[in-house]
Amino acid sequence: MIAPWEMEPVGPLTAGIDVGGTKTALVVTDSRDRVLYEQVVATNRASLVGQIAELVDTARRQLRTESGRDVEAIGVAIPGRVDTAHGSVRMAVNLGITDLALGPLLKAESGLPSFVEHDARAAALWLSERDTPTGCPSLAYLAVGTGISAGIVIDGELLRGDNGLAGEVGHVAADPDGPVCVCGLRGCLEAVAAGPAIARQADEAIAAGRSTSMDAHPSPADVFRAGLAGDELASEITGSVADHLARAIRALALTVGVKRVVLGGGVAAAGPALLEPIRARIDHERAISPLVETAFADATLELLSPVTEAGARGAAAIARRRIGSPQREEVGER
Ligand SMILES: [Zn+2]
Repeated sequence: MIAPWEMEPVGPLTAGIDVGGTKTALVVTDSRDRVLYEQVVATNRASLVGQIAELVDTARRQLRTESGRDVEAIGVAIPGRVDTAHGSVRMAVNLGITDLALGPLLKAESGLPSFVEHDARAAALWLSERDTPTGCPSLAYLAVGTGISAGIVIDGELLRGDNGLAGEVGHVAADPDGPVCVCGLRGCLEAVAAGPAIARQADEAIAAGRSTSMDAHPSPADVFRAGLAGDELASEITGSVADHLARAIRALALTVGVKRVVLGGGVAAAGPALLEPIRARIDHERAISPLVETAFADATLELLSPVTEAGARGAAAIARRRIGSPQREEVGER
């Protein structure tokens, strides 16, 4: 982060907020995508709009004091079925939202134009634009955290789908005998490979008396750590998660044809402990199948650093383009 007094912000400043099941991140960026302000807090599900308005208000007061600049618009990245035209979000099951007019409510609270985008899509768009000069306008960003979803950019365009649910791979079938998912179906990818599913599998095995080096109620990060240290139960769980995610990545690459997949979200903070087993499984499939080999021969599978607030950065970028920053109009939303 560049302190405001160390540079002259360029163009309008916009706030981007990424609302996750566990944490909510806010950034304020200028039209060159430089971060002027950053804040991460635990998500307050009982008062989402109030919390976002308060975060933005705190950021605005600090920026006004330090640089005399103000935020001109707000972008919010959130899971669920997002209606970008009306700024509403529905079926954000992990946040307990059935239908929320987030954009209009936030505008009423803050007085600023407020825009809403699906979280993984905001992150994917930001990743693709950030890297466009190097020639990668197509990619899939797979977010694995409290839930699982993908943001897909093809030739610089975000894929939303006619049903508004493009990329919701967290709710494709992964294990027909798996547990019931928050969406109501049984055995969704999210129900077997997202953060809560990892913690639950460990809890259940420990409660059933499985011997393990893990303490009671381990976090997903604890499970990955124990797996790396050779704990048998933890390795079983992380191995199963890698199996499921490798299949999801294969499905993404074969369905939308991307050669670049970026893995992010809270669970991806496990780093190589998550990435390498997934790579190994994909490499195994490549060795067996010429089709998979063709799909992945010159493809990249990357891990996004958990400190990179891609969703919030993307949300700020989307707010900036929606208010028509001249610096960004060449990549205007289509
Ligand atoms: Zn589901």
